[in-house]
Amino acid sequence: MTTAYRALNDGTLPGVLSALPDVRARLGGAPESWTVQEVGDGNLNLVFIIKGPAGAVVAKQALPYVRLVGDSWPLPLDRSYYEHMALSEQARHAPGLVPKIHHFDRGLALIVMEYLSPHIIMRKGLIRGTEYPLFAGHIAEFMAQTLFNTSALALPAAEHKQRIGAFAGNTELCKITEDLVFTDPYRIAKLNRWTTPYLDDIAAEFRRDEPLKIKVQERKLQFLTSAEAMIHGDLHTGSIMLTPQDTRIIDPEFAFVGPMGFDIGAVIGNLLIAYYAQTGHEERIGSRNAYRHWILLQTEKVWRVFTKRFLELWDASRTGDAYMPELFTGPEGAAAFAAEKQRFMRKLLTDSISFAGIKMIRRILGLAHTEDLESIKDPPLRAKCERQALTLARRLILDAERFSGMNEVTHAARAVLGSR
Ligand code: ADP
Ligand code: MG
Repeated sequence: MTTAYRALNDGTLPGVLSALPDVRARLGGAPESWTVQEVGDGNLNLVFIIKGPAGAVVAKQALPYVRLVGDSWPLPLDRSYYEHMALSEQARHAPGLVPKIHHFDRGLALIVMEYLSPHIIMRKGLIRGTEYPLFAGHIAEFMAQTLFNTSALALPAAEHKQRIGAFAGNTELCKITEDLVFTDPYRIAKLNRWTTPYLDDIAAEFRRDEPLKIKVQERKLQFLTSAEAMIHGDLHTGSIMLTPQDTRIIDPEFAFVGPMGFDIGAVIGNLLIAYYAQTGHEERIGSRNAYRHWILLQTEKVWRVFTKRFLELWDASRTGDAYMPELFTGPEGAAAFAAEKQRFMRKLLTDSISFAGIKMIRRILGLAHTEDLESIKDPPLRAKCERQALTLARRLILDAERFSGMNEVTHAARAVLGSR
C-alpha cells in the first residue's frame, strides 16, 4: 500500500507521525503537544525537527522540484527512495556513522530519522575554527567500509550487478552532478555565478583551457561509466554533522554505483576549500594559522586512515569475484598481489585528487557555492581566497598523476597560499 504524495507542513506532519507507533512512542505525549520546525538549509528538500515530551525526530521529505530554484526545475520524488536505500546500506557497513532510520514512506517521499543533537554541520564548525579530533578517522572508516563492502573486491559479480541495477534509476540526481560539476563551470551557462568582476578573468581562462577541459571530461566519462562501488555522491562538509566526539554522514540522495574517488575527492576538495577560506575568517592576519595547519593535517589523515582501513578490509575479506585468492598463491603470488594493491591505491589517490579539484572549481564558478566562502562578506577578500582555491584545483586536475601522496597535495596547497 502506498500513500499518495502531498507536501507536508507543520500542521499535517504530526498527524502522519502519530500513526507510526514507534515514532509516536519516541516523541511521547499527544501529537497536539509536539512542536514542528522546518530547518532545511539544503538545496533540495524539506527537513523538519519534531519535538515531543519524550524525544525528537527528524522528518525529511522530498519536494517534486528543486527547492533552491522552484517548480520550474522538477525533480523526481524517488530520490528519497534512493536516499533511504543508501542510508540502509551505509548503516549495514558503517553503523554509528549515519543517522538511525525510524521510518520510510515511499509514497510520501518521507524519511523519519534520528534527530542529531548537538551535532552541527561540519562546514559551520570549519568556519568557526573548531577542531574535531575524531573526524578524520570517522570519515575514513565510513568511506573504507562503504566503498570496499559495495565493490566487486568484496562481492560476487551477481550481487554487484544487482546493486548497480538497484541504483540505476537515480539518473536525474546523477545528471545534476554531470551538468553542474563536470560541464557548466567550463562553459557559459545561465546558472553559473562567481565573485564578479574579480574572477571574470580566471573564469574565462578556465573556459578556454583545453587541457583542463579534456581532463575534466575524462573524469566525467569515468563518473558516467565506472561502477566501482556504491558512493554517497555528495560527500561534502555540508553532508557531515558532528560534535568533537561523534560524526554522522547525512543526505546520500545522490548515491549510485560509481567511482570511489568521487567520494574521497569530495571530502578532500571541501577541506581544501575550508583551508583557503580561513583568510576570510581570521580575526587578524595569522590568527588562523594553527587552524589552517590542522585542516591540512586532517586532509592527510583522511587519506592515510582510509588507505589503512581499506587495505585491512581487503586482506580480511577477499570474497569478491575480482582478484580471487587462488590465483595468487605462494610467495610470488603474494608479492604480485601486494604490488597490485599498491597500484590500486595509487590510482585511487590520483582519481581522488582529480575529483577534489573538480569539486572545488564547481563550488566557485558554478551554481552551488559553499558557506565557507560565501560568508566572507568583503568581495575582494573572498575573491582572493577563491582564486587561490581555483589555482590549486586546476593543478590537482592537470597533475593528478604526479602526486605520489596526500602530503604532496597539502604541500602544493601551502605553496599556493604562500605565493599570494
Ligand atoms: P538537502 O538534501 O535538502 O540538502 P539535508 O539532508 O542536507 O537536505 O538536510 C538539510 C539540513 O537539515 C542539514 O543541513 C541539517 O542542518 C538538517 N538536518 C538534516 N538531517 C538532520 C538530522 N538527522 N538531525 C538534525 N538535523 C538534520
Ligand atoms: Mg544537503
